Amino acid sequence: MNIDLHCHSTTSDGLLDPRAVVARAAANGVEILALTDHDDTGGLAAARAEALARGMGFVGGVEISVSWQDATLHVVGLRIDPDSTRLRTGLEWVRSSRIQRAERIGEALEKAGVHGSLEGALAYVCNPEIISRTHFARFLVESGHARDVKSVFQRYLAKGKPGYVEHRWASLGDAVSWIRASGGVAVIAHPGRYDLDSAQMKGLIAEFKACGGAGIEVVTGSHTPTQYREFAGYARQFELLASRGSDFHGDAGSRADLGVLPPLPQDLKPVWHDW
Ligand code: AMP
Ligand code: MN
Ligand code: MN
Ligand code: MN
Repeated sequence: MNIDLHCHSTTSDGLLDPRAVVARAAANGVEILALTDHDDTGGLAAARAEALARGMGFVGGVEISVSWQDATLHVVGLRIDPDSTRLRTGLEWVRSSRIQRAERIGEALEKAGVHGSLEGALAYVCNPEIISRTHFARFLVESGHARDVKSVFQRYLAKGKPGYVEHRWASLGDAVSWIRASGGVAVIAHPGRYDLDSAQMKGLIAEFKACGGAGIEVVTGSHTPTQYREFAGYARQFELLASRGSDFHGDAGSRADLGVLPPLPQDLKPVWHDW
């Protein structure tokens, strides 16, 4: 089965609207798709309807922004109920601070000599409640401050760079509990992207499991093949369910396309084993 459990639409920082994401997944041979926009479930109804019309399996998802110790992490919720009051209230709270954060990013970039970036980023925003660094990145590329999105992050937007501002997102425990309260399963997104040594990674996984988290992304567009093996090892050691997801944002070429990554290692228990 070709299952892709992580991607984005215009509801957050993707380039395609939810129906177009599903259409592209279908064209790529995806049989079950989860849409997992950042901190927002507003695209799920349209995506689900499109998937139903195409006879494709669909899973409602979300990718929650989390602050854990000094790091920002992402926790994916799968098979969530977007109508759950606890999940909805939690996500509303996470979204509510994005615009103030964006204002601080705009001020920080101004000091670094980049003018008008907040307005520039807003021009790329489709959902007024979700302004993300990706929208700033698109503006910075368009205005000639960097060659591509990857180099924008390296020069301006990654932690320690002039346009990076500290921000407090949801706690790990809150994110996992909102997902579980809505009937979903919580999965650590792209663990290889975090700047954690193996002791810190084990600490994160132990705390995640203690909060009720159950899965980890092993095969993702954010991992190298070496990292597939590394995080397959963590999945085995900590008895976590394994997930596979492209993290597609619509800008094919710079990231993995929907449904094209290799399958999970055979011996792992996939997060969809009992669906
Ligand atoms: P935010 O939630 O506003 O902090 O934005 C995070 C988003 O920025 C991620 O979901 C990615 O889509 C994007 N992003 C972060 N780091 C990079 C990177 N190095 N290259 C490209 N996109 C990135
Ligand atoms: Mn993103
Ligand atoms: Mn992410
Ligand atoms: Mn993502």
